[in-house]
Amino acid sequence: MSIIVDEFGFSNITQVIMGAHRILQLGDPVLREVSIPVENLADARGCLDDLRDTLHEFQRTHGFGRGISAIQIGVRIRAIYIELDGAAYGLINPEYEWLSQERFRLWDDCFSFPDLRVLLERSQALRLRYMDEHGGTQMVDASGALAELIQHEMDHLDGILAVDRAIGPNGLATREQWQAARSLRPN
Ligand SMILES: [Zn+2]
Repeated sequence: MSIIVDEFGFSNITQVIMGAHRILQLGDPVLREVSIPVENLADARGCLDDLRDTLHEFQRTHGFGRGISAIQIGVRIRAIYIELDGAAYGLINPEYEWLSQERFRLWDDCFSFPDLRVLLERSQALRLRYMDEHGGTQMVDASGALAELIQHEMDHLDGILAVDRAIGPNGLATREQWQAARSLRPN
């Protein structure tokens, strides 16, 4: 248990992170399992609470982090927790309604291999249907950062990791090397 100041801007109230879990790391075969749909909403709610606490703990210790999937704390259910631009999303049984043909490249990273950066492609935009924590059906239209983040977490639910999508022999780098290479370039 640790105490932090909420970094997410909803308040400056000091929080106690009680539900933070160990995050499974690259090479753990559980990360390759396909997660199963949520049937018990209460289980999903408890899991989302733990995912939020784990995300906050990771942000505190690593200085970055925006999304996490249940499988990353060893829970094999289709649940995702995301925080981006002051909004929080608890996604239960998410399914794509639509993915754009238009794609873009980015350097991705992951809680399960925080010392790596991965060059990959994601769809520019998408529409996602999911169940909220009250059991209601919701729809979200996402583009840019939220879209690529959702695709990253959706991959986790099917046992797919960002490293699987690395483009070319130089599409995988240590975070240290990646940062050093960029510090030598004008942008
Ligand atoms: Zn990840």
